[in-house]
Amino acid sequence: MDIVDLRSDTVTKPTLAMRRAMAKATVGDDVLGEDPTVKQLEEMAAARMGKEAGLFVPSGTMGNLIATLVHCRRGDEAIMGDRGHTFLFEAGGVSALGGVVIHTLPNQPDGTLTEWALKAALRPDDVHHPVSRLLILENTHNRCGGVALPAAYMSWAGQFAHANGLALHVDGARIFNAAIALGVRAEQLVEQADSVTFCLSKGLCAPVGSVLCGSQEFIRQARRVRKQLGGGMRQAGVIAAAGIVALEEMVDRLSEDHRRAFSLAKGLKEIFGVTLPMGMPQTNMVFPALPVDFPGTAAEVAAELSKRRVRVGVVGERMFRMVTHYWVDDEAVQYALDMFQQVLSDLRRV
Ligand SMILES: *Cc1c(COP(=O)(O)O)cnc(C)c1O
Repeated sequence: MDIVDLRSDTVTKPTLAMRRAMAKATVGDDVLGEDPTVKQLEEMAAARMGKEAGLFVPSGTMGNLIATLVHCRRGDEAIMGDRGHTFLFEAGGVSALGGVVIHTLPNQPDGTLTEWALKAALRPDDVHHPVSRLLILENTHNRCGGVALPAAYMSWAGQFAHANGLALHVDGARIFNAAIALGVRAEQLVEQADSVTFCLSKGLCAPVGSVLCGSQEFIRQARRVRKQLGGGMRQAGVIAAAGIVALEEMVDRLSEDHRRAFSLAKGLKEIFGVTLPMGMPQTNMVFPALPVDFPGTAAEVAAELSKRRVRVGVVGERMFRMVTHYWVDDEAVQYALDMFQQVLSDLRRV
């Protein structure tokens, strides 16, 4: 068996269909607006999100950054969860490059922010305060266990934002995982959003890229900010071609990843003492924790697993993150479970 890489769905390599589409893609200079393949991807993405326009960007991080820079001026405040990707894992870009203040609120276990916390976070119109300008929601919510935030909450939060003069940006890196898990169309989750970005390069298997979607006017401004950040790409149709295959062929099959994450979680729970502090997975992520009495750390276990060709993420002293994706089949799940059990009992003995 090859290496079973459960560290993330970002490790997915492109499919054969993608490599074929990339080889024969029609391309042009996209900074001059002349790449038909990029245009096609942007239109498809916008349609899937129910928005007027799309912008192909090199990464989800840049998509979130561009959106924040378009919505906010320097010194403005963006409200988001304290477990949010933009706050934790994007190197402080919105502050470093946009002078935007991040105002974090406690993420609830289901990934949401409460109404009372949101109300309390709103700044009065007073020269002492930064201007509250933007609400950022994440769906699925990565560090809350890959939970899917339901359409009703997304729509309530959007209405709350707009009623209080905020724009809503959705970090929908895995919005299709959310849609599949909830049995809705992705556009229903972002109906109230002024902008949304999603990744092609995670569970959808494309090698590179995300798409930022919003109104024509929003995307017109976003295009300039992308250029400012150095994200204008020339014959980008070569990679956009893989993104088109991702949208056409890789969305519906995400349910298989969810099914496998569920059986992985079930198997882990059966290993003596292992717990799932974030509960059973709703999508493609499992966060198992070591038994309380286990004489070692998650990092030590991960290192041993790696010797047995199973790679997992370590997200704390005693917790792991395991993510299922296209290149992890049923046999790989079983192998990972066997190795996990083996490593735990080996380490208990030493
Ligand atoms: C992966 C991810 C991103 C963006 O990641 P890139 O690696 O920059 O494409 C943004 N938000 C969430 C929730 C993510 O998981």
